[in-house]
This record gives sequence, structure tokens and C-alpha cells, in this order.
Amino acid sequence: MSEDKTKAAKALQGVKGMNDMLPADAPLWEMFEDAARSMLRAYGYQQIRTPIVEHTQLFVRGIGEVTDIVEKEMYSFTDALNGENLTLRPEGTAAAVRSTIEHNLLYDGPKRLWYTGPMFRHERPQRGRYRQFHQLGAEALGFAGPDVDAEIILMCQRLWDDLGLVGVRLELNSLGQAHERAAHREELIKYLEGFQDILDEDSKRRLYTNPLRVLDTKNPALQEMAANAPKLIDFLGEESLAHFEGVQRILKANNIPFKINPRLVRGLDYYNLTVFEWITDKLGAQGTIAGGGRYDPLIQQMGGKPAPACGWAMGIERIIELLREEKLQPEAAGCDVYMVHQGEAAALQSMIAAERLRDAGLNVVMHATPDGKSGSFKSQMKRADGSGAAFAVIIGEDETAAGTAQVKQLRSGNAAEGGPQTSVPAGELVEFVIGAMVDAIEAEEELEDDEQ
Ligand code: ATP
Ligand code: MG
Repeated sequence: MSEDKTKAAKALQGVKGMNDMLPADAPLWEMFEDAARSMLRAYGYQQIRTPIVEHTQLFVRGIGEVTDIVEKEMYSFTDALNGENLTLRPEGTAAAVRSTIEHNLLYDGPKRLWYTGPMFRHERPQRGRYRQFHQLGAEALGFAGPDVDAEIILMCQRLWDDLGLVGVRLELNSLGQAHERAAHREELIKYLEGFQDILDEDSKRRLYTNPLRVLDTKNPALQEMAANAPKLIDFLGEESLAHFEGVQRILKANNIPFKINPRLVRGLDYYNLTVFEWITDKLGAQGTIAGGGRYDPLIQQMGGKPAPACGWAMGIERIIELLREEKLQPEAAGCDVYMVHQGEAAALQSMIAAERLRDAGLNVVMHATPDGKSGSFKSQMKRADGSGAAFAVIIGEDETAAGTAQVKQLRSGNAAEGGPQTSVPAGELVEFVIGAMVDAIEAEEELEDDEQ
């Protein structure tokens, strides 16, 4: 292919690092979303939705100039129509805080918020690392005590439990307060300067701008140096230590195991006191499925009245991948009823009957084909079987003339022969189908009881 043709063909494909969620994956995503919503309700968190685009300056201010995100990962552009500098959101906290300040949400007290949606970071795409990915996040705004740090950690544990995920481990650290970090930073820079000859480019760049991040290095050659570096925790004062101990006490009382990782610093600048990550060994290098902590300075830094805050964000793609890895696939949700029909008059009756069944809360799929003709009875029944429906409702010419419908049970004990088929007056169809569904569920439960 010529270069132009290759380019043209590429332009009609998805953007690199940005994925489609295909129908086959929908049950997994929906299982995650359902579990997340019910967990968030259980803790009294309310949803907030903010635009996908914000002023670039919001993220520069909110995330920090010397972070990976702001330095090299943002999708920023100039609005061609009015010259505004805009950015596709790389994370959710800055916008949630922006909105909270803008709409004065804390006027009547602290707020527990959650959000979900796509985030954008220009990174090298690989397993678990994409350019458009999705996060679920929670932010507890206006609470200062260690009880809320512990609460947001318990929330994550509850979600893993609800999803059936095991072996996700919790790492915990405290970043103390700014003055404590400053004292540590001085010592740390002195220490790191002694390793100039082995530091990689990234680390050299961060040595004076963000030395804590040097300890976050994934470079194997630097691990020993990082392990022996002065530990921030040794620089914490009484108050910071008491807060950290408070969090740990609640976690222990709730039987949440954790490991203190003195090198855990998190990628974003705005954290203080508690920071944590949830990590799995089953996803290779991209094993962090959630991270969070306290960010008390942020609200004031962004122009709000000073208010403490903490929160977390989880990477949904990584969690979906882990669910897949652990074979925690839910069954694809089939429909309840598949409508089989033959002839124009029957198609119309079928359409009416389907609406009545849906009125009663059932999920109903109408048989339809690419050529607009309904096809043979046999081919329709094949579709009905493939749909996963519990029942087929069959309306042909005879049924239309008699004002009836045939109800056939699918997925019955003897699949080859199919289940019983009953002729039902059209006016009693809804009642009959619901009754038959209840019977089928009860029969299934009895079978399960017998097996136990
Ligand atoms: P990492 O160290 O893996 O780059 P991070 O510190 O940049 O992560 P956060 O900003 O804390 O990540 O985002 C919270 C979560 O969002 C991460 O723990 C991860 O699960 C997920 N995440 C972050 N970046 C990506 C990405 N590019 N693709 C998919 N998921 C991501
Ligand atoms: Mg990152």
C-alpha cells in the first residue's frame, strides 16, 4: 500500500491506546459498576459528574508541575475557535475539587463524593496502561480525622470482597506534613547526590525537583539505593505519627491486613499524611489497581476555603483484567422472552404482545432479520435458543386467527426436545409467562437443594 493509503486506512481505525468496550466484555464492566455503586451507597457517597475537558491550568495547579502527568502525559490543545488552553482530564480529583469550590458544595458541611469516567494520559500503551482508560474515584471532602482515611480504605476492601477478588494487598505510608517532608528532603538530596554515577536520566531530573519520586523508581539498578535511603517516616512529628497510628488502629480492628511501605509516595504532588495503594501480583508491571490518600492542602491551593480531604482512584481496566484473570466472569445476561412470528398480521400481534410483556418488566427480544423477512419457523427457534431467553412466545397465522399465542419453555431439562409448549389466550399471555417464570425459578431452586 502507498503511504497515503496506509494513512487513510489508519485514520478510519481507533486511536492507538484507546479501546472499544465490546459487547462480550459488557457483563464484566456492568458487574464492576453494579458492585461499585452498591458499595458507594453503603458508605453514603454521592455521585458528581464533571466535563471531560477542563482548563489546562486546573491540572497544572491541581496535580503539580513536576509530576509525570503534567510534564509529559497530558492531552492539551488550544481551542481553535477562542484560543483557550484546554486539556482532556488525566484524573478526576482536580475537577471534583474545582466543582466543589465553584458550587460551594461544602457550605453546609463536609461531603462524600464519587465519580467515574474516562481519563486521558499520553503514555506508552501496554497491558494495563492505555491512553484512554477509566477510573472510579471517591473523595471525602472536609474531614480531617484518621477515621475517614480508614473508611475510604475499608470501602476498597469491601469492593474487592463483593467482586470476589482475593490477593489484592494493601500498602500504606504516611507522607507527613510539608515541613516534615522539607527536613527529610534535605537529607534525601544529600544521600542521592552520593549516587550521581548510577542515577538514570529520570532520577537525575527529579533529584532537585522531586527527590521523593526518585525512590519511586522502577529501575532495578536503583532498588538497593532506594531501599537504604533516609526514610520519611523517621522525620514525622508526634501529630503526624498519631494520625498514621489512628488509621492503622482502625484497619487492624477491622481485620484489614496491610504492609507499611516507607517508599510509597504516589505520583501526584498534592498528598500529605496517609497514602496507600492496592496491588496485585497477577497483572505484571501494571499491578496497582487503586491508589489514594490524604490531600489536605489541595482545596486551598485551588482557591477554596481551607478544608481537609482524602480519596482514592481505581483503574477499572486493570480491575476488569484481574476479574478475567481470576475467572470471575458473570454469566451474560440473556433476555426473558424471544418473540417468534410468521406473517404480517402475526408480526403486528407479536409486537403488541412484546410491549405488554415489557410493561410487566420482562426483557423481550423481537425476532428480526437483515432482509426484513422473518424466515422459517425452524430458523427462528434456533435464534430463540441462541438468545438465552427462558421462553419463546410464538405467534403464527393460526394463533393470530384464534387470538392466542404459544409459549414454549427453552433451556429446559431436555434441550433437544425443548420444554413444554402451551397455547394461551392473548389476553392471558403476560400472566401466564410470569407464572411460568416463577415456576421455572422454583424448580431450579429445588434442583439446587436436591444437589446439596
Ligand atoms: P502508574 O504508577 O501505574 O502509572 P499512577 O500513579 O499514574 O499509576 P494514579 O494517577 O494514581 O496512577 O491513578 C489511579 C489508578 O488509575 C492507578 O492505580 C491505575 O490503576 C489506573 N491508571 C493510571 N494510569 C493508567 C493508564 N494509563 N491506563 C490504565 N489505568 C491507569
Ligand atoms: Mg502514571
